[in-house]
Amino acid sequence: MKDYNLAIIGLGGMGNWHRELINEGGWFGGVKLEGGGIEHLKVAGAFDIKKERQEFAKAHGLHAYNSMEELLADPKIDIVLVSTPNDLHKPFIIKALEAGKNAVSEKPVTLSSSDLQEMIDASKKAGKVFTVHQNRRWDEDYLTARKIYDDNLLGDIHRIESRVHGSRGIPGDWRGKPEHGGGMVLDWGVHILDQALQFPGKIKKVYASLTFITNGLVDDGFFAELTYENGMVFLAEVGTSNFIKLPRWMILGRNGSAQIDDFSVKGKIVRVTDWNKNDAIPIKTAAGLTKTMAPRTPETIKEEALPEVKSDIRDFYRNVLATIEGKETLKVTLDSVMRNMKLMEAIFRSAKSGKPESFE
Ligand code: NAD
Repeated sequence: MKDYNLAIIGLGGMGNWHRELINEGGWFGGVKLEGGGIEHLKVAGAFDIKKERQEFAKAHGLHAYNSMEELLADPKIDIVLVSTPNDLHKPFIIKALEAGKNAVSEKPVTLSSSDLQEMIDASKKAGKVFTVHQNRRWDEDYLTARKIYDDNLLGDIHRIESRVHGSRGIPGDWRGKPEHGGGMVLDWGVHILDQALQFPGKIKKVYASLTFITNGLVDDGFFAELTYENGMVFLAEVGTSNFIKLPRWMILGRNGSAQIDDFSVKGKIVRVTDWNKNDAIPIKTAAGLTKTMAPRTPETIKEEALPEVKSDIRDFYRNVLATIEGKETLKVTLDSVMRNMKLMEAIFRSAKSGKPESFE
């Protein structure tokens, strides 16, 4: 494989995450990923409108271009990553493609499906690789949920709940401003909805509401209930005023439930060992008696560890390089990104009308 040079437009928090991952190897839980950076790929340069980020680039051995035009005119650069605020992804990606570069956009790819179509058209016209950093397809909590689903560990699954909860409101930067594509649907929703779309089957119905608890201009959270063609319901929820977090994932099957607590994949599976042994000791509450809500007796259930799944986020860029060389096809396809964009649009429509939206 040939060696590739990448340049970053927008060297803020996330731009620098890419620099570290590619040139040094990433970090997880304070520990550096084994094996260092990405083979055959180097972040060679960057351009940022902030002077201090230009200085930061130089201090980390990157060439700091004086303008985006200068960066795009450099024949040494094969791939451009755009990691600016969301509203600038579309114009900068199109410019990069027109300059003959392969292009990677941070998520959300842009703010509407019609904008995305223009970006796709530009990539087709340029004949260059264009993809989106939907990195959370490599999250081990998501892959664990997928394994539970794919290996049918709980019997027929009727409900999946996927939540991310914070308690500091929406960040006070461009993420709070509609003109920059702020709001939590576009910020975190884009990840957990992308994950939801990786589960098999079409989504027939979308019913959603947005929250505006800490910010009146853009949503600071949302609930979206997605009904799949097989009847399974997927609840996607982002909250930024949750001082007590709910588990990252709950998966409910006919014969068991799974709970994944957080990104570090702690949790458990509880499965029934014998459906027919369903007698229980009723619970007496001050106001009454219930057998239905009494716990199962210990001999009829079994607690198990979650299955172990390992992933390596560097595979995102390995796939980009292999696609440029014609040896693989993109893992994050533009069709999948368009489907997600249309899902987010359906969520906004449902939240506005207060009614379910049909989808697919
Ligand atoms: P940030 O504010 O830290 O960084 C954005 C950078 O872009 C800043 O340094 C800013 O000066 C620069 N910039 C703004 N306008 C510019 C212009 N015209 N030309 C060049 N540079 C310009 O924001 P961030 O948290 O790094 O987010 C950047 C992007 O990354 C966003 O699209 C965000 O959604 C995405 N992101 C993705 C993930 C992920 O997990 N995939 C995580 C965080 C952020």
